[in-house]
Amino acid sequence: MTPETTTRPEVTNLETARFECVYPTCGGTCCSNGRPPIEAAEQARIQEHLAKFLPHMRPEARAKVEKEGFVTKRRKEGLFALGVSKGWCVFANDGCVLHKVGAVEGDRWKYKPWRCITFPLERSENGKWHVRQWKLKGEAWDLFCLNPAESPKKPAETLKSEIEFLEELEGGRESWRRQED
Ligand code: SF4
Repeated sequence: MTPETTTRPEVTNLETARFECVYPTCGGTCCSNGRPPIEAAEQARIQEHLAKFLPHMRPEARAKVEKEGFVTKRRKEGLFALGVSKGWCVFANDGCVLHKVGAVEGDRWKYKPWRCITFPLERSENGKWHVRQWKLKGEAWDLFCLNPAESPKKPAETLKSEIEFLEELEGGRESWRRQED
């Protein structure tokens, strides 16, 4: 059995950062060209259930995935990254198809890569987490929602679910994601 802990992950700028997700107003722009890397077990789970996702995908994304698969040869953090079609993640279609199918089945995150679930939280090399913000730690993505001037809201309020997920991830209760196949 995997050991579980209740250690609270440290998010260094919880008080100083500002963030508010305004989806669907933004059109889900964090899913355009984001190319998240996925763990081998996450990839295997998506592959196993792919037939459920295909009918909900954009036609061009579906055609691409049926021909080439949903990951590219491009590597990030040593892992395969999700493919893109017409500038959007292959699973983006007016929201995330993996999220929508999971939600219908009672768990919105069961198929979604953990890096998508935790966005805009990011782990630094020292193991601590931070809320991505313009110019912080060399942040290069110009997404408007990463601009702290866009909202007065603190992430302790707006990212409660994501922070709870971090506890699951760091505590070992989501360890299936990092299992090698
Ligand atoms: S897997 Fe879903 S949440 Fe992640 S980038 Fe693709 S569409 Fe967005």
